[in-house]
Amino acid sequence: GCNSSCELQEARLRLPILAEEQVIMEAVREKECVVLCGETGSGKTTQVPQFLYEAGYASSGGIIGVTEPRRVAAISMSHRVATEMNLPSGVVSYQIRYEGNVTENTKIKFMTDGVLLKEIQKDFLLQKYSVVIIDEAHERSVYTDILIGLLSRIVPLRNKKGLPMKLIIMSATLRVEDFTENKRLFRTPPPVIKVEARQFAVTVHFNKRTPVDNYTGEAFRKICKIHRMLPPGGILVFLTGQAEVHSVCRRLRKAFPYRPHREHTGTQTHLALTKHPLCLTSRAGSRKGGSLPRINLDSYSALPVDEGDEDRQAGIDDNDNEGSDLELGDHPDKEKADPSIPLYVLPLYSLLAPEQQAKVFSPPPTGARLCVVATNVAETSLTIPGIKYVVDCGRVKKRFYDRVTGVSSFKVTWISQASANQRAGRAGRTEPGHCYRLYSSAVFGDFSLFSEAEITRRPVDDLVLQMKDLNIEKVVNFPFPTPPSSEVLISAEQLLISLGALEEPPRRGRARLSCPITPLGRAMAAFPVAPRYAKMLALGRQQGCMPYIITIVAAMTVREIFEDYDRPAGSEEENTKMAGKKARCVQMRRLWAGQGQSVQLGDLMVLLGAVGACEFAGCTHQFCEENGLRYKAMLEIRRLRGQLTNAVNAVCSDAGVYVDNKMAPPTASQVLCLRQIVLAGLGDHIARRVQAEELLDPKWRNGYKTPLLDDPVFIHPSSALHKTLPEFVVYQEIMETTKMYMRGVCAVQAE
Ligand code: ADP
Ligand code: MG
Repeated sequence: GCNSSCELQEARLRLPILAEEQVIMEAVREKECVVLCGETGSGKTTQVPQFLYEAGYASSGGIIGVTEPRRVAAISMSHRVATEMNLPSGVVSYQIRYEGNVTENTKIKFMTDGVLLKEIQKDFLLQKYSVVIIDEAHERSVYTDILIGLLSRIVPLRNKKGLPMKLIIMSATLRVEDFTENKRLFRTPPPVIKVEARQFAVTVHFNKRTPVDNYTGEAFRKICKIHRMLPPGGILVFLTGQAEVHSVCRRLRKAFPYRPHREHTGTQTHLALTKHPLCLTSRAGSRKGGSLPRINLDSYSALPVDEGDEDRQAGIDDNDNEGSDLELGDHPDKEKADPSIPLYVLPLYSLLAPEQQAKVFSPPPTGARLCVVATNVAETSLTIPGIKYVVDCGRVKKRFYDRVTGVSSFKVTWISQASANQRAGRAGRTEPGHCYRLYSSAVFGDFSLFSEAEITRRPVDDLVLQMKDLNIEKVVNFPFPTPPSSEVLISAEQLLISLGALEEPPRRGRARLSCPITPLGRAMAAFPVAPRYAKMLALGRQQGCMPYIITIVAAMTVREIFEDYDRPAGSEEENTKMAGKKARCVQMRRLWAGQGQSVQLGDLMVLLGAVGACEFAGCTHQFCEENGLRYKAMLEIRRLRGQLTNAVNAVCSDAGVYVDNKMAPPTASQVLCLRQIVLAGLGDHIARRVQAEELLDPKWRNGYKTPLLDDPVFIHPSSALHKTLPEFVVYQEIMETTKMYMRGVCAVQAE
């Protein structure tokens, strides 16, 4: 028989990219930059680093660097490549924002794109690397775009200095003109190598009608049908967010109960193996049931600034009825499925713990059908083996950001045609497959052709500061693959000037965007957080406030630290349990908000109190569970506190701050000081309560006025200041849900 590493080698040899090894390596040898296009699953990420390694690119001092826009991919691809090459993780390693296993012996390094950008700040020529691979360039993440712009300059510089370096840009789509036909980026267009993927035919089935909002119900019904009627083969379902994923997983486990497995979220219904007549214990395989999964803290990851947005706003979910529409559809396959086959249901989304994510790569228990219910993360970054059926809701959850007002909102929108085709393609990797689109062909025809580059959809103050710190004076002239609008660049620059990170321009008008960075700006750029928070850190040394500011900033940038108990539960019993938890959570928030002066810090005091209490208790899973805190968020805050503490000590060698897990609450004068520091970072995020005489229109009741918005904004009922309604407040951001709500509210002294 063949052992597992031999099977792995066989699978490797079947990858389409193997046929192109020589073509690729020849191009890399001859050109500074090569663009490589190949369908997801063709072997780009796992094989190209190995080609380079075998060709000696890591043997004469330099190493091979691979950037990924997603942390999930950086971690899992480093593991995969290490396994395929039979090398330890100290040689094929990864580095993400908070963690990594890079050693002196590292030869291949997978990292998030943000990590490489930070390295450019330390060594503009990236002399450590002999090759840099920019992976998933089609995703057009902001850092990827910036890296390509910078590397287009770094690579020729390196060659001029006699320290040759190669750049490989890899994309899952053929849409690479923004890189190849952009003369400002590459004067001579880099060669494009296409890898022909062995793609089997995927039959696309459109719905006749398009469900307006109940697409999770529709997805559920479709999965049930596929599982009951169609021959063996894994199912991959695309939904938009974590809450939807869990709700569909729950319903599927209820409909096809066989697995008495308890997820760490603790919301699954327990069903004994023997309860279901179709469930044959022997078929369920040898999976252990009942015991809690172990959570390996070492491999916990957190997300870059915008990654995982699809998961951050839970609660966009429908209240559909349990689907019973299971009649036979007109499916083309003649083969009959065995309805007694168990369904092995797995969730997949960015915020899921890595060891839970890794489950999708191992084969399902013998005889069971795999069903992965995923968010957009499964579209291109990860290839799940054995998928034959794709169910595509046609939507994606995205964060929208209003350029003028700064209001953020999460919206579920239609995907692009390119995305829809990517999703469909996932069904034809190992044999012909089927894609069930939960929308009509007419609706598909109205989709935009491609998704927009991220840089056109978010504020860029952090990028502008980092670029200024790299001494890129005129950000407008930077060779962006897709330039952000000048409007966005100007508002970023204005914010940075108001924070003191950039000097005022000498003249208005003509000299825009050439204002130099200040010493304060340099210090701020050293902190791995957005400029507003960096400013708070830069001011944190007064009155012993630094540990508090570090904690507040860490908690603010991790964003959602509270568990969401508003999502629809599966059963009465669960609903009651959730209501109990919610009540406890409300009580704890009130406690954490403190008394006396500290109440004025509002939601920020709640953050401080929550982190303080959690760390005092040893930051255990149990403490979080009992007090409505997201364990994963608290671990992220812990790491970030450590990292920010180091950064503060590095910028300012006599700061002498350390992470104190038995932090006493701030004194009254410290609270006052903290409020001033917070105001310095959020000075443009100020809101004033409307006065009685302005209350002509009832919509302004309890409303606040901000300088830029015509409509009122509100303090959310879950905020610590909801009852107090101070006259002046600053807020972290405005999030539009049912109303425009301020998040992270802190009272400002009216003077
Ligand atoms: P690409 O980057 O072109 O999308 P990859 O190199 O990521 O392709 O994947 C190539 C193949 O390796 C895929 O068919 C996938 O199934 C397999 N593969 C990748 N990662 C893993 C993993 N962690 N476990 C099992 N198979 C994997
Ligand atoms: Mg890949």
